[in-house]
Amino acid sequence: MSLCAQVDSSAIRFAATITEAELRTHLTVLASDAFMGRDTGKEGQKMAAAYLKKAFIDAGIPPVPAPFDSAVTDGYFQQYELIEDQVGGIGIDQAGRIFAYKEDLLYFNEQLQTDLAVREVVYLGNGEKLPKVPLGGRVIVLDGTTMGDTPALMSRLSERMQDLRKADAAVVLVGVPSVSAMANEVHLPASRVRLASGSGKESTPPTTQMIVIDGASMDELLGANSLAKLARKRAGKVVPVDFTITARPNTHPLVAENVLAFIEGSDKKDELVVITAHYDHIGVENGVVYNGADDDGTGTVVIMEIAEAFAKAKAEGHGPRRSILVMPVSGEEKGLLGSRYYSDHPVFPLENTVADLNIDMIGRVDTAHRNSAPYIYIIGSDRLSRELHAINGQANMLYAGLELDEAFNREDDPNRFYYRSDHYNFARKGVPSIFYFSGVHEDYHQPGDDIEKIQFDLLHQRALLVFHTAWILANRDQRIVVDKPPKP
Ligand SMILES: [Zn+2]
Repeated sequence: MSLCAQVDSSAIRFAATITEAELRTHLTVLASDAFMGRDTGKEGQKMAAAYLKKAFIDAGIPPVPAPFDSAVTDGYFQQYELIEDQVGGIGIDQAGRIFAYKEDLLYFNEQLQTDLAVREVVYLGNGEKLPKVPLGGRVIVLDGTTMGDTPALMSRLSERMQDLRKADAAVVLVGVPSVSAMANEVHLPASRVRLASGSGKESTPPTTQMIVIDGASMDELLGANSLAKLARKRAGKVVPVDFTITARPNTHPLVAENVLAFIEGSDKKDELVVITAHYDHIGVENGVVYNGADDDGTGTVVIMEIAEAFAKAKAEGHGPRRSILVMPVSGEEKGLLGSRYYSDHPVFPLENTVADLNIDMIGRVDTAHRNSAPYIYIIGSDRLSRELHAINGQANMLYAGLELDEAFNREDDPNRFYYRSDHYNFARKGVPSIFYFSGVHEDYHQPGDDIEKIQFDLLHQRALLVFHTAWILANRDQRIVVDKPPKP
């Protein structure tokens, strides 16, 4: 392995085309209210996709050469299909009395797809200890009225649900003091988005549906019993009931785009380095635009500038030896969907994909670094390839001079950031990846994630690290070696 610490003057020359001013210009557009929070599959995301495509054309980047993956529509977009589920399709019907979403009940995801007639439920008290009775396929009642305030209740329920999912329970009904109070305290999105079936996401087996029910409504459902009466019974008691849980899925199709800026390499053009950042965000809620300037406007504008730098290098005879695919992806905020789709339907073979460098939020400073030198978190760099880790360190030492913080790279990181951005979809397929990140802040997924709070000097310094790491990966003689097996 050759890691001679020598500065590459052409790398520096083309890195100079990445400027604070251009980062600001692009971010001013993408993080403006006109882009409506760039919601996946919606108009704002489409506008952002069109803006990115135009910028790549302006930078002289040609469309992906044919024959390309048939899903690529015009050489710049990889389109994929999504399904949007409007929340609120599950209710309960007890002899014509309808228990409705947000009034009598609520839930956080919809597993149930068809009606379920319920003639008995298994009462499990607060669910702390599961009795030794079979729970598979059955409807469970939990008493959540003594589990504390909403945050405490939510964390207890998530623990209970782990066990009940393992036991294969069909539905878990949880009685709580007040559904309307709870609905005000928790975030309940109006819809959820997933990849359409056949879009590559492995079909997930049916899993347990949890429904939170107002205590008074629960007592109605329990007929002759009530939560108070049942509190004196043992866990595992079977209680006769008579109602139907109704499922009226309200879905409609959406289409979203990954944008492709492909700079073909020279003597090693069949191999490629992928550089990703998600350009979607969470849209508009209650009339408020979530601009997502940091998340992930910053990553998006940085990879635009990186694409332009490589395109200029190529135009002036210093093109990368390996190909570069700069790919702003969408659907990240809905569950890494765009990168998931790409990794299941790669436009360029994953076997030839040397690495993925992914940027997600690199424009601010988190509380842990209030008074520290310029820094960046790097996550995952050493998990699949020690050379990747070393090259990132080398690029940093020679060209960026950042403090590299690996706090979130620990296997036991409670935030699980390694699994939470688009690089993971490459890593899970065995492609060495780095996730560049500057940490969460008080505006994370809030309307205040605006451009005024972006530190462009830092953003620029961090961009240099990613560019030079990509430059070395693309131009060195040997492809980096994968020397650690992917974790299951
Ligand atoms: Zn993000």
